[in-house]
Amino acid sequence: MQYVEISTDFSAAHFLESEFIHGHNFKVKVKFYGNLDNDGMVVDFDKAKDTLDEICNKFDHKVMLAESSVDSRNIAGEIKVQKKIYDIAKEDIVFLPISATTAEYVAEYIAKKLKEKFKSQNLKISVELEENYDSSATFFM
Ligand SMILES: [Zn+2]
Repeated sequence: MQYVEISTDFSAAHFLESEFIHGHNFKVKVKFYGNLDNDGMVVDFDKAKDTLDEICNKFDHKVMLAESSVDSRNIAGEIKVQKKIYDIAKEDIVFLPISATTAEYVAEYIAKKLKEKFKSQNLKISVELEENYDSSATFFM
């Protein structure tokens, strides 16, 4: 078995319980593990890169919010999270179907999206999401 690796990055804001809103320049490193196909590839680099960019571009320059962490939201754009009210333009928010916007959960979300797109291929996928040079989380499936 071999693996190929691709990467991308995005800038986004998030906040976890007991944290103030803040941002990171996230780096995403993805490994696809598998056997070589008839063309001698584990995965097509262009397709893999395009797919990863498509997923991550949705987060770029946005506020990432876990759907379940939002107490309420109204049509005026006000969002209530942990008793604080934020007025953030709707188009600046990306709601994610995860429990919290930790690096762990976001990495898992990206991995599942990739797995969906490459489900016809027998690949193992790992996604490493780096918040800072000294901290990252990896999800493997
Ligand atoms: Zn953070």
